[in-house]
Amino acid sequence: MTYSYTQISQYLTCPRRYRYRYLDGWKEKDTRAAMLFGRAFEQALAAYFLREDPAAALFQEWSTCQNQELQFSKGDTWDRMLQQGIMLLDRFCRDDRIDVRQPRRNLQVKVAKPISGMNEFVAYIDAIGQLDGARCLLEWKTTSNRYPEEPDGLLALDPQLVCYSWLTGISEVAQIVFVRKRLVEVQYLRTTITDQQRQEFGQLVQDTIRRIESAQFLPHSGIRFPQNPCSSCPYVGFCLGRQDLAEAALVRRPGADHLGWLDELTY
Ligand code: SF4
Repeated sequence: MTYSYTQISQYLTCPRRYRYRYLDGWKEKDTRAAMLFGRAFEQALAAYFLREDPAAALFQEWSTCQNQELQFSKGDTWDRMLQQGIMLLDRFCRDDRIDVRQPRRNLQVKVAKPISGMNEFVAYIDAIGQLDGARCLLEWKTTSNRYPEEPDGLLALDPQLVCYSWLTGISEVAQIVFVRKRLVEVQYLRTTITDQQRQEFGQLVQDTIRRIESAQFLPHSGIRFPQNPCSSCPYVGFCLGRQDLAEAALVRRPGADHLGWLDELTY
């Protein structure tokens, strides 16, 4: 069995949600504009490091989504997102704080780690490069809101960064956050993951896999209303017995239990 960060985090959010997604094969429809834009933007960044035209790459990738029925949020439109993307690329190039040498090798780096039994853990790291001249693991994020920077040290608690540090053994990690807002902004957030955090994450993975293998899929979203994640969960239609809601949000993909690691390719 191949596990990914997304699988572990979905199980920890709600085991029932994991079952719907990975065992029953129900997957959220790929119509969210923000997610598809994130994928297109990632291709534009790859073009930049490969010394190609990043704006042209963004236009080309984003154009493939133009005629789909996209779900936009907060007044976004296809044109507006393209314009923001081009401004963000311009800002990123002018900042010139990130270097990725040998981009064909150091972008979308596949890392696989054998874990208990016949299991392995797979991830695709966005990049391994340098921020302000110091080597680190890099993750790209596109968002319409700034990432919080207070209290100091918050980023070190990010579970995805801890996971990737555990997988690679690299302690210096950074999120490069591309903020789509009226005045676009690029945040360069870096932190250090400790040995203890890596060790504890490894234990969390083992423990989670044990619970998955013993078929513990009781529903528990964990937080009370109004922060209850059920309100934004794509599987809420199943839990409420509302087939109409489920069909509006989901598509069935047989064999999904073997393809979970592919989630690492998505935003
Ligand atoms: S709606 Fe709530 S209980 Fe049901 S799968 Fe989603 S998070 Fe879990």
